[in-house]
Amino acid sequence: MSAKFLITHATVVTMNDARDVLYDGAILLSDERIVALGATDDLLVQYPEGERIDGTGKVILPGLINAHTHIAMSLQKGVTMSVPEGLYRVMWPVGKSLTPEDCYVGALIGGAEALKGGTTCVVDHYFHMEQVARATTELGVRGVMGHTIMSRLGPITGERELEEGIDFVKRWKGKDPLVIPWLAPHATDTVARDWLLRLRDVATAEGVGLHLHVAQSPRERDYIQELYGMGCVDYLADIGFLGPDVLAAHCLFIDTAEIDHFEASGAHPLYCPMGHALHGHPQRAWEMIQRGIGVLIGTDCVCTNNEMNLVSELRIAGTSQKQLVGDFEAMPPLKILETVTRDAADAIGMGDRLGSLAPGYLADLIMLDFDGLHAVPNYGLLDNIIYTCHGRDVNTVIVHGKVVVRDHRLTTMDEGRLVALAKERGPALIKRALASEEDLAYLWREAGRS
Ligand SMILES: [Zn+2]
Repeated sequence: MSAKFLITHATVVTMNDARDVLYDGAILLSDERIVALGATDDLLVQYPEGERIDGTGKVILPGLINAHTHIAMSLQKGVTMSVPEGLYRVMWPVGKSLTPEDCYVGALIGGAEALKGGTTCVVDHYFHMEQVARATTELGVRGVMGHTIMSRLGPITGERELEEGIDFVKRWKGKDPLVIPWLAPHATDTVARDWLLRLRDVATAEGVGLHLHVAQSPRERDYIQELYGMGCVDYLADIGFLGPDVLAAHCLFIDTAEIDHFEASGAHPLYCPMGHALHGHPQRAWEMIQRGIGVLIGTDCVCTNNEMNLVSELRIAGTSQKQLVGDFEAMPPLKILETVTRDAADAIGMGDRLGSLAPGYLADLIMLDFDGLHAVPNYGLLDNIIYTCHGRDVNTVIVHGKVVVRDHRLTTMDEGRLVALAKERGPALIKRALASEEDLAYLWREAGRS
């Protein structure tokens, strides 16, 4: 095996079983795998050949896994910020004007922003997923990807979407190591019961996971309550939908008894710290973590939180949960890092090869600048990763052994072109939506954007 990269003189936060941190550490990568980790002096002697990357002043982490997002929504960045119930009043009306090409371009921009913010794997859920996969493979970001399936309410509904969601899994399974196809029913209130049951069966038969929104609004909770006389999580448990292969975004409007279902089933609630805080609806994430429930963290779309920056999301997870439960000890930095590395890797079925830095694991890692004004002197490494670093401190990103961000610049795409595309295609989409949706024009004026 020939050495491709030897990263030297870095602080390596391995997130391995022992949670080892290597100071003046080195990592040897060959093709898509990590071959060895150790002291820089030792690895330089053992592997004198190959390209070097100097990690002096850098902290290396396993690549972060953003457990809930919609990268293709980048063309709609921030449009719901000042609009209550923005999902229903803005996102879905705008979504009616989306083209497949909009999703491709949006995913390029969102995926690029995700990479530059330290995410090496997005767990993504959106329409026209074929176009999103086209974008992520071109960018070089790993994706757990599901084509959004809705039977009612949303901008794109119908039996054809159900079949496409299932076909997407069949087309992409085992085809590309960067694309892990999943099933993505939209939510409990937007997907018919018989469709949910069918998707549960297909997921089991194909060995793929299920990613959906659950109890994300009072509207969703009330609909399920009226129809079935129970809460959204109760309902999913009742129909036998829940399992360790289910990722459930938000889970905001649930009662304590519903939390029991997560404990019993091993399903994962997805916590979106900034989006939840902005909407004033805290998730009881720390309470669930303390019960042994596998909470994971995502950014959600940039419509609701304005950035695809997972490193920055982590500080909000810590501060929000401490404030929510009134406990200084809540949501410690190590637990936060676990949720976006090894816990998330386990949840997507890749815990034996992703989420830690160890020999034989896939070479997905990030390097943070830790030698600037913001990070020195450094008396508490993990505290400082969470509370002093931002996505803009991500210097280098490696996915599947390939350097996709180097010195803060994408290597796979021309960023200037992406900025130009965002400025051109975003307003064009909004213009089409305004022309076709009268209500939207009113909201736009109300929000002071006209
Ligand atoms: Zn979402």
